[in-house]
Order: sequence, then C-alpha cells, then structure tokens
Amino acid sequence: MSSRGPHQHRRAEPAGGPGLSPAVGAKQAEARIGKPCFYGGQKVQGLFACVACQFQINNRKSLPTCPDCGEIVWAYLGDGPRPVPEGETAEDGVQLDAPSGPVKVEENVKLDP
Ligand SMILES: [Zn+2]
Repeated sequence: MSSRGPHQHRRAEPAGGPGLSPAVGAKQAEARIGKPCFYGGQKVQGLFACVACQFQINNRKSLPTCPDCGEIVWAYLGDGPRPVPEGETAEDGVQLDAPSGPVKVEENVKLDP
C-alpha cells in the first residue's frame, strides 16, 4: 500500500495557495479587493488590514505576518497615493529594466517665443 493519499496534512498557506510568491499573492489580493496590497517583509508605513481576517495594524516598519491568522498579505487602508515600500522603486514591486542605451534628450526645444 502506498502511503500517498488524498488526505495530506495541510498547513496554513498564504493567499493564493502553495508555490505562490508573496508578491503574486499580494497582487491577486489587490485585484480582488481593489486596494493596494503588500506582504510581510515589505517596509511600508500606515494602516493595514489583513486580507484574510481584516485584523488591522498601524505599521511602521516591515509588515509582519498576521498575528491573528498567519496571513502575510495586507491591504493598505490609508488615504492618498499608494505607498512605495522602502528599497523599491516600481509601483508593483517589479524592477523595471532601465534602458541601457543613450538617454534621449530633447535638444531642439526652443524656449524663445
Ligand atoms: Zn489575519
């Protein structure tokens, strides 16, 4: 008899299920609830709510895992523009490739009236 069966032990999984990166989980949560979402470890300040149980925290440093349910994805509840996590530049947390070619400079702009 094989020990492999349909009933495997399950641990609490982050949003989206196993094998999903936190960034992807946050992105999916963001698409689902329409608020900027971040995940544990990102340095963002403000008021956040756990996307799983709505536990709210006033975060000042790196986002934790939810103390209530273990979720790692948080929705930003603050007003104003989407906060950018410390150390990241792109809004989605994805580093955009900077063009390696010469920077295009407009030199033909005439300021004379
Ligand atoms: Zn929670």
